[in-house]
Amino acid sequence: MQVIYFDNNATTKVAPEVTEAMLPFFTELWGNPSSMHTFGGQVAKYVDQAREQVADLFNAKPQEILFTSCGTESDNTAIWSALQTQPDKKHIVTTAVEHPAILETAAFWERNGYTVTRLGVDEKGNLDLEEYANALTPDTDIVSIMYANNEVGNIYPIPKMAEMAKERGILFHTDAVQAAGKVDIDLAKVPVDMLSISGHKIHCPKGIGMLYIRKGVLFRPFIRGGHQESGRRGGTENVPYIVGLGKACQLAKEHMAEEQTRVAALRDRLEAGILAHVPECKVNGDPAHRLPGTTNIAFRNIEGEAVLLMLDRLGICASSGSACTSGSLEPSHVLKAMNVPFKYAHSSTRFSLCRYNTEEEVDFAIEHIPAVIKTLRDLSPFKD
Ligand SMILES: *Cc1c(COP(=O)(O)O)cnc(C)c1O
Repeated sequence: MQVIYFDNNATTKVAPEVTEAMLPFFTELWGNPSSMHTFGGQVAKYVDQAREQVADLFNAKPQEILFTSCGTESDNTAIWSALQTQPDKKHIVTTAVEHPAILETAAFWERNGYTVTRLGVDEKGNLDLEEYANALTPDTDIVSIMYANNEVGNIYPIPKMAEMAKERGILFHTDAVQAAGKVDIDLAKVPVDMLSISGHKIHCPKGIGMLYIRKGVLFRPFIRGGHQESGRRGGTENVPYIVGLGKACQLAKEHMAEEQTRVAALRDRLEAGILAHVPECKVNGDPAHRLPGTTNIAFRNIEGEAVLLMLDRLGICASSGSACTSGSLEPSHVLKAMNVPFKYAHSSTRFSLCRYNTEEEVDFAIEHIPAVIKTLRDLSPFKD
């Protein structure tokens, strides 16, 4: 059966060019880049090249790039380092709509003596700059705000928010896992101190991430050990995946314009097709400030999980909010923070597209989704 993959905010297909770039590092070039001998040492230049490719996507410097094992490790490392380098400060500012990688980390530090401010969002999922300004105090250690939301796709005003933190001498971290490759992020202009990305959200395999640390920002390692990564992260470099991430970043840069035009148009076509043919549904989030491939649609009075199962039978992969919360019947923390009414929040379905999706796939979905929703509504106990 054909698979129509509309779940790219959960993970992405590995680009064939990425696989190809990685293969030699499993077969011939399996040495340790730190070795003194030529066989191992020759691998180091490929790690350097990947560091340049990753830096290039963000207009950063190669020495500002730290390779990690995933987006979650990058997020944990950023917060850890900020707290360790400023032991006198005890306040963290974040939002109520972060990924669990930040939410759970903030909650951990809260249990360990820190105060956490979680900024709320309005019904469109947007943050309030005045609330943010009021949250920043001389005791604030770090601000961590996502560049774009994984569930509804909202893009937050990170350039402005980072500037406001900088004016007050406060460290600013952004979880840019969803924004990387989709939003143009120029770190020579946007004054964030740290930024996280994850390979598997940009067509690289799972198990590699990156933390950007601006030159001059004090740093303490989260993982201690050998002198790898200039002493910033112990552990022998994951060379094949580092090479893969370099290639994925290079491809992301090449495809960014297409992402913002062709992929956005496919998303718009899918969204408009559903809204036109399904009664009582609405879009969650802010269509005016949103990732190009994401739409989150609520179908009143039915269960999101049921929608997913029916779509699955058609070979369509989508998601009800974040993969981490699916399996439970609680509406997602993001939709709750947005005050989406229960009967809409419960049925919210996220479709996230990428450069591999086609118009035929979108049209197939538009053709079948109205009947799926009608069947479920006919069965639904909720009727009003
Ligand atoms: C997927 C995701 C992460 C976690 O990245 P992993 O590499 O899976 O650990 C963090 N933040 C956001 C916004 C994400 O979408």
